[in-house]
Amino acid sequence: MTITEEARRLIETGPVCDSCLGRPFAARSFGLTNGERGRALRTTVALADDEPYESTAPIDCWVCEGYCGTFDALAETIVAELEGVRFDSYQVGTKVPPLVEENDRLFREDAGFEPDVGELFKREVNREVGRRVGGLTGAEVSFDRPDVLAVIDLSGFDPLAEEPVTSHVVDVQINPAFVYGRYRKLKRDIPQTEWPCRECGGSGRQLEPTGEEPCEHCDGTGYMYPTSVEQVVRPHVVEAMDGEEGTFHGAGREDVDARMLEGGRPFVLEVKRPQKRRPDVAAIQAAINETGNGVEVDGLRLATYEMVERVKELEASKRYRAEVEFGEPIEEAALQAALERLEGATIEQYTPQRVDHRRASLTRTRTVYEATGSLDADDPTTGTVDIHGAGGLYIKELISSDDGRTEPSLAGILGTKAVVTALDVLAVEGEDEPFESEEFFRES
Ligand SMILES: [Zn+2]
Ligand SMILES: [Zn+2]
Repeated sequence: MTITEEARRLIETGPVCDSCLGRPFAARSFGLTNGERGRALRTTVALADDEPYESTAPIDCWVCEGYCGTFDALAETIVAELEGVRFDSYQVGTKVPPLVEENDRLFREDAGFEPDVGELFKREVNREVGRRVGGLTGAEVSFDRPDVLAVIDLSGFDPLAEEPVTSHVVDVQINPAFVYGRYRKLKRDIPQTEWPCRECGGSGRQLEPTGEEPCEHCDGTGYMYPTSVEQVVRPHVVEAMDGEEGTFHGAGREDVDARMLEGGRPFVLEVKRPQKRRPDVAAIQAAINETGNGVEVDGLRLATYEMVERVKELEASKRYRAEVEFGEPIEEAALQAALERLEGATIEQYTPQRVDHRRASLTRTRTVYEATGSLDADDPTTGTVDIHGAGGLYIKELISSDDGRTEPSLAGILGTKAVVTALDVLAVEGEDEPFESEEFFRES
């Protein structure tokens, strides 16, 4: 069958608009719209048959029932709904009424075609409306992870109505935006994320016979600690991106009483419903570092959403510095010999006693890459020990032995008590590759 014969059979199914007529031929002649294909086919059939040329408006089309005439209005409505929102990429999705989907199949079957030949109606709406949104905004289509997603519900309006397309026909979703950085915690007793008071559940109030009173446990703040890294960082980023809320994702976390120094720890701040996606990260960083409450950030950059998984999942080694108190005076040579034995050793650690009891107890093995240190010059019962170890190594237990649950340990090798009195994390670095890989960043 020639293409003219094919087109004639489709036209004979009833009044059909140019877009619907062209759609079964969507795989032919790249660079045309389906409307252009349909118009050309209709012209060809009219010339071949020497019949008067008669076009069919979408509102008279039995297949799309008028929806093909609403692409412009749909695109304009989406753009209006996104007013004030900055985005570089978008995607359009469409919910098609089942009856129209059925028409689209019947149209082909009535003419003796396969029911899904060419392009289906839903894809045409997505593509045609999407193309128009791109033209109006300059943004690019992205099927992977668009900044914004507009979902059109065609059941929500009647194309034959006077002003059919209204804002409730489109649902606009704004995807989160992400900022990566490293934080340092220069003071102890700052948790990484906000920690609601366990007595009052974060409300800051408790119920007394006399009525509601401020919670005694948290002085009415609702928090276990006055601040957290999250609470210092989050407001600056959320505000700069004009978002609704933010979530902090850290590459692991140190104990509340440990400082995080030197290289800092990677984190991602996720901002929900940002109106701006390209804030001045240097200004955000400066503003955070000016707050001066023991939290600093470094290397702030815009990141992709994959960076969240990366900071959470990438295997990282850690460097620690521990202040250690021994049960008796130690010889410097004995300490050096003990550290030498730990270096390169595989440590077996049964779940520490201090760890959450709900966690299943098991023995894990972790490697110590480096162990160095020295006694304090004026006190042979105290010293400083630096450990570089695989992620998940429990340092306090590596020093103390945790009543024999960690083997080997510094206390075990020395044959005396050893307790960490202060702990700092100096570095958190990927085992095999750095966290800061360019493919996980966005241009600012
Ligand atoms: Zn149509
Ligand atoms: Zn409380």
